[in-house]
Amino acid sequence: MNIILMGPPGAGKGTQAGMLARRFSIPHVSTGDMFRKAIKQGTEMGLKAKAFMDAGQLVTDEVTIGIVAERLGADDCAEGFLLDGFPRTILQAEALGGIMANLGRKLDAVVNIDVPNEALFGRMTGRRICRQCGATYHIAFNPPAQAGECDRCQGELYQRSDDTEATVSNRLQVYARQTEPLVTYYREQGLLKTIDGSQELNRVFADICQGLES
Ligand SMILES: [Zn+2]
Repeated sequence: MNIILMGPPGAGKGTQAGMLARRFSIPHVSTGDMFRKAIKQGTEMGLKAKAFMDAGQLVTDEVTIGIVAERLGADDCAEGFLLDGFPRTILQAEALGGIMANLGRKLDAVVNIDVPNEALFGRMTGRRICRQCGATYHIAFNPPAQAGECDRCQGELYQRSDDTEATVSNRLQVYARQTEPLVTYYREQGLLKTIDGSQELNRVFADICQGLES
């Protein structure tokens, strides 16, 4: 099973990825992990990526695509993979098509976890963290007994700057803008499986599995 997993920040993608990787016995291949591994192992593309990063430059598309090609060609991906965080652009999607063709394989599905922006907004802006012990709360789903105070240590709860309304709104807009063309691209190829990610997580997982097995 060769799968791409897509979903906005706050959609629970990481949790679903872990569950899917176990269920189908395939590696969860995320962009961050791929880079770390390639650099650590000193692969040809890993060395190129490191040179850009050491110089404080963005890694080029060519190198990113090269790292994906190296990773998907590795032994543990022979029976399939769950790709997360790539592709991000149509150009990368087309390059992935080429990588798959070179490997003599094809994509089986692109799972898109869809959650309405209002729901994501609530999930992401409601998070609070204890200044003293780092415990996390959610004002709606997991509130502390006393508003603004940690249950464990009575520390003060605060909101991370990543979780403020302006930042969340911007992150969601950037994601939507980046993803829309890809959603259309994969829909046209008949690969897109859109899953209602506003449900409880086991329900989301069951829907993804059903989508993949149909
Ligand atoms: Zn605390």
